[in-house]
Amino acid sequence: MVRAIVGANWGDEGKGKITDMLGETSDIIVRFQGGSNAGHTIINKYGKFALHLLPSGVFYDHTTSIIGNGVALNIPYLCKEIQSLVDRGVPKPKILVSDRAQIMMPYHILFDEYEEERLGKKSFGSTKSGIAPFYSDKYAKIGFQVSELFDEELLKEKVERVLEQKNILLEHMYHKPAIDPAELYKTLLEYRDMVAPYVADTALFIHEALKEGKTVLLEGQLGTLKDPDFGIYPMVTSSSTLAAYGAIGAGIPPYEIKDIICVVKAYSSAVGAGEFVSEIFGDEADELRRRGGDGGEFGATTGRPRRMGWFDAVASRYGCRMQGATEVALTVLDVLGYLDELPVCVGYEIDGKVTKDFPVTAQLAKAKPVYEKLPGWKCDIRGIRTYEELPENCRKYIEFIEKEIGVRISMVSNGPKREDIIYR
Ligand code: GDP
Repeated sequence: MVRAIVGANWGDEGKGKITDMLGETSDIIVRFQGGSNAGHTIINKYGKFALHLLPSGVFYDHTTSIIGNGVALNIPYLCKEIQSLVDRGVPKPKILVSDRAQIMMPYHILFDEYEEERLGKKSFGSTKSGIAPFYSDKYAKIGFQVSELFDEELLKEKVERVLEQKNILLEHMYHKPAIDPAELYKTLLEYRDMVAPYVADTALFIHEALKEGKTVLLEGQLGTLKDPDFGIYPMVTSSSTLAAYGAIGAGIPPYEIKDIICVVKAYSSAVGAGEFVSEIFGDEADELRRRGGDGGEFGATTGRPRRMGWFDAVASRYGCRMQGATEVALTVLDVLGYLDELPVCVGYEIDGKVTKDFPVTAQLAKAKPVYEKLPGWKCDIRGIRTYEELPENCRKYIEFIEKEIGVRISMVSNGPKREDIIYR
């Protein structure tokens, strides 16, 4: 059985915590897209961790963690992250890396930086982890698969061929030093030795596991609104963030994905540039940011302050629909306990007309939020373990959201810890 955990919004919905929780009943946990630009925050008995590349299942000793073929694999980063867990007393996780995953090259990171620098004020707000240049090269067919590290002759020839092009760009477009093929080749041999213990045909491994009745969890990064096709293009990420892509990025048949748990945040937050209809500013935003998440809404990878907003039912319903959500986990609800009333964006006004359907980016830029206000519950709901114990106004907020998004809310998260969860 395959379950997917994916985001409905702009990312940072709290997927890490839900994955960590559901990891308990999973045999295999797979990252299927994105790279080390992700940031999941997990709090468990070993402490507080920010994982960027490893799946959130690495804290269990009964699970195998897989970096699927769809991931942008930063090899030194992977090794550093594994080591940092071991250093803090976490038992060394079982990790497999797809032989078809492609490698984040040092120059991808450089190009990401140089391009943001070149764009200046028009930049994408990239995390500069090399993601966009990486996926560009993958689809331009000049990327390097992990498997290619193991054929020295071909590798050497390919490094020379690819650098011919890269060095022209470096010199003439960005006015930066060229890369020496011999040096890059040496780096790649080091990468090979680092990754070798983990390399496997992971699609086959998952196939065999599914035949044996094992449970697989696909862990998405970011959310629907950052998907290159269905998000707020071009302010999106460079790999698909949708559950459907989980089939490709992990190498399994699409019909195997039986449960799609869409993580929806009880208010909105976003990092980077792009349309954000229910965004709030000033003191109102500062207060929500300060109280938000676990110790404030700041990017797990970059430390940047996140942009804040009220719950956006238009974006979230669309987010769930494009994910194909079979159930919803509503997270960080505890944060909202301080508010007298909670505005919920229930429609977008575009050119004088109100719509509930999430539009394309150009329309989105013109959209003004239409709010409905719900009464607050004015208390701390952390520690509550059953739905009935939640204050009435809190339940009303949940049920209002459920009706707006049209998907059953099966879990409510009321704190950052694994046990801060209410099943409905
Ligand atoms: P992800 O990328 O979707 O995994 O989200 P992040 O981990 O970046 O952001 C979620 C943040 O909210 C982290 O700091 C979590 O520890 C925290 N968090 C997750 N669930 C809850 C919750 O229910 N309540 C509170 N207060 N914090 C939460």
